[in-house]
Amino acid sequence: ASEAGDHDLVIIGGGVAGYVAAIKAGQEGLKTACIEKRGTLGGTCLNVGCIPSKSLLNNSHLYHQILHDTKKRGIEVGDVKLNLTQMMKAKDTSVEGLTKGVEFLLKKNGVDYLKGAGSFVDANTIKVALNDGGEQTLRAKNIIIATGSEATGFPGLEIDEKRIITSTGALALTEVPKKMTVIGGGIIGLEMASVWSRLGAEVTVVEFLGQIGGPGMDAEIAKQAQKILGKQGIKFKTSTKVVSGDASGATVALNIEAAKGGKEEVLDSDVVLVAIGRRPYTEGLNLEQVGIEKDDRGRLVIDQEYRTKLPHVRVVGDCTFGPMLAHKAEEEAVAAIEYIKTGYGHVNYAAIPSVMYTHPEVAWVGQNEAEIKASGVKYRVGTFPFSANSRAKTNLDTDGVVKFIADAETDRILGVHIIGPGAGEMIAEATLAIEYGASSEDIARTCHAHPTLSEAFKEAAMATYSKPIHF
Ligand code: FAD
Ligand code: NAD
Repeated sequence: ASEAGDHDLVIIGGGVAGYVAAIKAGQEGLKTACIEKRGTLGGTCLNVGCIPSKSLLNNSHLYHQILHDTKKRGIEVGDVKLNLTQMMKAKDTSVEGLTKGVEFLLKKNGVDYLKGAGSFVDANTIKVALNDGGEQTLRAKNIIIATGSEATGFPGLEIDEKRIITSTGALALTEVPKKMTVIGGGIIGLEMASVWSRLGAEVTVVEFLGQIGGPGMDAEIAKQAQKILGKQGIKFKTSTKVVSGDASGATVALNIEAAKGGKEEVLDSDVVLVAIGRRPYTEGLNLEQVGIEKDDRGRLVIDQEYRTKLPHVRVVGDCTFGPMLAHKAEEEAVAAIEYIKTGYGHVNYAAIPSVMYTHPEVAWVGQNEAEIKASGVKYRVGTFPFSANSRAKTNLDTDGVVKFIADAETDRILGVHIIGPGAGEMIAEATLAIEYGASSEDIARTCHAHPTLSEAFKEAAMATYSKPIHF
């Protein structure tokens, strides 16, 4: 084993959390090494998450629109054919470009990038089992663990990524399944259900709860999402649980029943996607050796400054507390470096947006109505439908609504929930408003360009304390 020189910082994991920390550390002049075992940088997000899923969502939407939504617009198209191999290639090209871009950024910022698996030898020593064989040992003043998360499996269903798949398999199918069942109606389930349903699969989503959308989505918005996605052809079985499965036959048979118990029913499909959540991934780090703790859900335990029991070892991203989102990981990575460099850092967990990239998109920030109600705070709701927005009408794309929730006494914005075209971009304005402690009147008195979808945002704010103009 070769000894490298000492580092100010060694980062284990080159996902969004790890690579952003590495770039920021390089910018701050820390001698930094980043260890990643995947062979490419960018982690789940760039390789098998955010980026490939958005490529397939965008292109499957275009395909679906060309098939079903052109005539009324005065566009007559001839023979429309799906070339799945090319659609996958387009996705791979985006992924490759971005992961290589990250590698370039690490180099540009003077970060040593080691391809291999990192593990603790002692509190300041990390051993790297190099992908190409051999070992390297690094000594570090500071260490950041950013090893991310993995899909949670379903007991009794063995993942082969062909017939029983996680999101990783769902991003790489080589043909469109005839029938596909999705276990879990959270964000992954609904994004992947959209892709494959648009490409021609008959998709059924089985969700344990009475509502789709996963944790956080406002109930009213989730209801609309289910209705709209239902119209697009996705079938839903909510308040339903999968009891067991059998993949030994020509199709995969799932036994399902009502969540509260009842008669079993068999659901046959060619492909089953397991999308019931993700869990922290910290295997092989040898954490026991140095006494770093996990909670009962496998999350690495940290304090407000991201420090473990060992104050020079910090944790950011999916393998610790908080929502498993790339932009949350990125904020934490920057803050962790600032703590190391200056002793001060900051992430506002009350202003982290969520976006589901279906069509229409669903996006929200702050608390949902049920959470606000439970908190006992008096609140007012203002809504504005896209069907009353001029741009949405012009675009013949009017499904959805903007919903503002503000404190009844102070008018301070507590939450914004949007389902509609461009919701994912529009939520940035709500996030900024919450970050600045804005009131709904602050938004409503801000001039928004006409004709834009963002006028629906302004008018929902107006509806919160007064009346909207156009509805
Ligand atoms: P990861 O991205 O998981 O990166 C951790 C890295 O560490 C991995 O590359 C792993 O190989 C490496 N590693 C682990 N152990 C070791 C070790 N011992 N040595 C060396 N390397 C190691 N989030 C969004 O915000 N928007 C989206 O649109 C979105 N879409 C998603 C779609 C899908 C299908 C999935 C699965 C997730 C999506 N997410 C999305 C979530 C997002 O991908 C994660 O929140 C994000 O990747 C977390 O970053 P991370 O760096 O903490 O972990
Ligand atoms: P999730 O927690 O969002 O949703 C899982 C869903 O499965 C929940 O609705 C849950 O009630 C349901 N469920 C759980 N067990 C079940 C069972 N046995 N039978 C039926 N339903 C069951 O998890 P996910 O969708 O797998 O996503 C994982 C993580 O990845 C999330 O944290 C998510 O934020 C992140 N992600 C984000 C995006 C995005 O931001 N666009 C996209 C994909 C993934």
